[in-house]
Amino acid sequence: MSAFAPGPRIAIVGGGIGGLAAAAFLRRAGLTATVHEQAPALAKVGAGLVVAPNAVRLLRRLGVMERFLRGAVPLEWGWEFRRWADGDVLSVERLEGVCERFYGERTYVVHRADLLDTVGSAVPADWIRLGARCTSVEGGPNGAVLRFADGSRAEADIVIGADGVHSVVRGAVVEPTPPEYSGICAFRTTVPAASAPEFARRPAQTLWLGPGWHFVHYPIAGGRAVNVVAFAPAGDFTDESWSAKATVEEFQAEFAGWDARVTDLITAGGVPGRWALLDRAPLRCWSRGRVTLLGDAAHPMFPFFAQGAAQSIEDAAVLARCLAASVDDPEQALKRYEAARMARTARLQQVSHDRRDVNHLPDGPGQQARDTALAGSDPLADNGWMYGYDAEEVPIP
Ligand SMILES: Cc1cc2nc3c(=O)[nH]c(=O)nc-3n(C[C@H](O)[C@H](O)[C@H](O)COP(=O)(O)OP(=O)(O)OC[C@H]3O[C@@H](n4cnc5c(N)ncnc54)[C@H](O)[C@@H]3O)c2cc1C
Repeated sequence: MSAFAPGPRIAIVGGGIGGLAAAAFLRRAGLTATVHEQAPALAKVGAGLVVAPNAVRLLRRLGVMERFLRGAVPLEWGWEFRRWADGDVLSVERLEGVCERFYGERTYVVHRADLLDTVGSAVPADWIRLGARCTSVEGGPNGAVLRFADGSRAEADIVIGADGVHSVVRGAVVEPTPPEYSGICAFRTTVPAASAPEFARRPAQTLWLGPGWHFVHYPIAGGRAVNVVAFAPAGDFTDESWSAKATVEEFQAEFAGWDARVTDLITAGGVPGRWALLDRAPLRCWSRGRVTLLGDAAHPMFPFFAQGAAQSIEDAAVLARCLAASVDDPEQALKRYEAARMARTARLQQVSHDRRDVNHLPDGPGQQARDTALAGSDPLADNGWMYGYDAEEVPIP
């Protein structure tokens, strides 16, 4: 247990993908940590995530690929864009072989719970404290005091806030600013493979683009289910939570008039979840003294480039490098971490933000120009800055 181990006492708030990845990379770097997770168990919640080569190469270094491959589905087609009304293919990207040749790894799709389980397998069980909801963090010159909902407290030399989009730790780093309403929400559901058409079971990430809406699906859970996530106008819905629910009828109504393959998939799914996308500008800084932020707590982004989980894993790898290199000067280490990561994650926040308008163009000249550009684009080659990044090799300022 970390209390008797040498080195700084590192507290990680949040046992999501980012928090567990931070613990795993710190361990790999020879440091120890305690993860304080509010949930009573590392919950099997969430739905599908895309795991691109920039994250896969880090999972491989953690030695968890065998576990990962139990649930992950390798994609043979990457971004396959289709037109909303009739399914006309606007562009299709062959990934098999090409992705490895470009970036040394494939792209996978996976259930969030399977990825959490994979990353968690690299963290000793006794590093994780469950049912520990952090209510405040008070930073001081030599560390910080964490307080929890059950009345307990903990002292740490370094605190990593990996507590997601509604981060409590963020309040110890920056003045809180309210997010803006984006006007978009996500519906999501999963369809058992036995009820899904062959079309949706292909190892492809299919995106149907329509005016103001778009619809995405891909297989997960080793091919035993199809993940569906769709974006629609939010109306007055503002609940930013993966546990909020909608009805199948509400979901169907959003996509009335679309190609029947879309509406049939909605019908085959279970009760959908509904999540309002709130809009947040990049933070001015991520660290104050010995408290820092990571993952969605630092840089929540719209999911349109499917990089949220990948960025939290990259953060974890870079943070562990910085802390291991300057273990006697944590403040300096956190500054270097922030300097290494902020520009990249801010760029991803921005491109993900801009993609919303491109995906949702009304039918007309703008949409036709977009579709022509899509037909001539190569997302894999064009996004080398995203997929080629190696968090363990990039220079640290
Ligand atoms: C329940 C859930 C389901 C999700 N489902 C999807 C999905 O289906 N598709 C998708 O693309 N993305 C999903 N995401 C988001 C995606 O997982 C993240 O964008 C990405 O993995 C970054 O992870 P993170 O660790 O920074 O944050 P998160 O994944 O949000 O993890 C934060 C962790 O911190 C814990 N926590 C929060 N506050 C406190 C506190 N005060 N004290 C202690 N612990 C705290 C949370 O319980 C959670 O375990 C989901 C996130 C959550 C929490």
